Amino acid sequence: MTALLDTRALKAFYGDAQALFGIDFSLDRGELVAIIGANGAGKSTFLKSLTGLVRAPIDAIRFKGEPIGGLPPGDIVRRGLAMVPEGRRLFASLSVEENLLMGATPARKGPWNLQRLYALFPILAEKRNQPGTSLSGGQQQMVALGRALMSNPEVLLCDELSLGLAPIVIREIYAAMPSITAEGMTVVIVEQDVTMARQVSKRIYCFQEGRVSLQGHSADLTREQISQAYFGIA
Ligand code: ATP
Repeated sequence: MTALLDTRALKAFYGDAQALFGIDFSLDRGELVAIIGANGAGKSTFLKSLTGLVRAPIDAIRFKGEPIGGLPPGDIVRRGLAMVPEGRRLFASLSVEENLLMGATPARKGPWNLQRLYALFPILAEKRNQPGTSLSGGQQQMVALGRALMSNPEVLLCDELSLGLAPIVIREIYAAMPSITAEGMTVVIVEQDVTMARQVSKRIYCFQEGRVSLQGHSADLTREQISQAYFGIA
């Protein structure tokens, strides 16, 4: 079976500094895959390469068999990849609802709309007219997730959904995942919370210093394998 999305020997640079050293990654339709790894391992850079925010050679990334590396971010969203950026990045001058609507892409149709999102996160319906940035961190994360879903992507890329949130709030956010994957959405999460990553994902990639240090089915990987791949301790 051809992968929905795959990268081959993907490298990325910031000026002269190399951040990714040849990432081989593949994703099948309907999977939830987690990328774990320490600060600076290259997880965010990898997601940014997939979405065109960091330059990549055209052939290094394939989506549905077509090369998409280095295409403009807008093109990539229209093709069906959407990212929930680290730190939520809501528009401060816009209401919750306006922030959500910013994610909508006329070129893409699908099940996700305001009504669907409000059913998934009822608190957002209650606060729809408030400035997005007046919400709690967890609620802002729901808005950021909802904004990405509004483009009805085929692949949803989530960068550190749990960053700075209390455990109970993290569980609340992840509780939405089954509804998101139920209709065949493919999801990649970058997650520093390894326990959560193992619980919610089918497969895990661990990054270390810009390389894949471990990959496998979440249920098969041991704690020892993961800590070695994560921290590089033998
Ligand atoms: P974090 O959890 O801290 O976000 P990460 O695994 O996502 O870590 P990246 O943010 O992808 O890691 O960083 C990978 C490497 O690229 C690091 O060495 C980092 O210092 C470097 N880097 C990231 N962003 C930039 C940038 N805008 N300019 C220069 N170097 C950068």
